[in-house]
Amino acid sequence: MLKVENLSVIYPGGYRALEGVNLDLKEGKVYGILGPSGSGKSSLLKGILGLAPASGKVTFRGRPIKEFAKKTAYLEQKENIDKTFPITAFQCVLMGTYPALGFLKKPGKAEKTAALKALDQVQMSDFKDRQIGELSGGQFQRVLIARALVRNAELIFLDEPFVGLDIQNEATVIQLLKAMAAAGKSVFVVHHNLDTVVDYFDEVILINRALIANGPVDEVFTKNNIAQTYDMFSEHINF
Ligand code: ADP
Ligand code: MG
Repeated sequence: MLKVENLSVIYPGGYRALEGVNLDLKEGKVYGILGPSGSGKSSLLKGILGLAPASGKVTFRGRPIKEFAKKTAYLEQKENIDKTFPITAFQCVLMGTYPALGFLKKPGKAEKTAALKALDQVQMSDFKDRQIGELSGGQFQRVLIARALVRNAELIFLDEPFVGLDIQNEATVIQLLKAMAAAGKSVFVVHHNLDTVVDYFDEVILINRALIANGPVDEVFTKNNIAQTYDMFSEHINF
């Protein structure tokens, strides 16, 4: 299980993006992380992963999460990713196998097969030899998801993975994530579309610069909690 204790993210200059988050999360579930723009969703992932200035403690199976770096996949929010790097879609996905290989070892047949399979799973086989700079936003996003899949990670963190995907691709990706959770992996998805929360997630984590609530969707994704998270009146929430 993933345990987050008193996690705070405070950026240089002193901005307190997130304060005192405590979470005790189960394995084998798809978690949705929700909150308004600027509420600290990306900071929560980065704080958990040690990629932002954070205090507090994060453990997985009772050990510091750092020890599971090779078993962790992370897809950054798209606007932060450099697409000008001159590699093909296939090479980009193959990079997902590097951490498990160890220092200076080259990917072999097994890794290449896994990369092709992952490209197929996101319906990108036809584009495997295309330079990533020549892919559309949605195609590139699927390549990045394939790269996260191919790592065979236990912990999968995706920051708004559906941005730029059409409905069909989005459905494909969420099915893949659900299958990974069913196989025991833990999947964390920063998400902003409230309409799909009930379909997509087992549990939600509602944040607004601190933890508002978390737990199973049917218990926690309530009008009152949503209103509190988004600073709205609950009468204005219709679904
Ligand atoms: P969200 O993902 O929910 O939109 P973020 O976690 O990206 O929110 O950001 C939360 C707050 O922290 C925002 O006000 C943002 O401007 C600020 N912030 C994010 N990254 C940095 C950074 N590297 N330095 C300073 N402030 C940052
Ligand atoms: Mg964000």
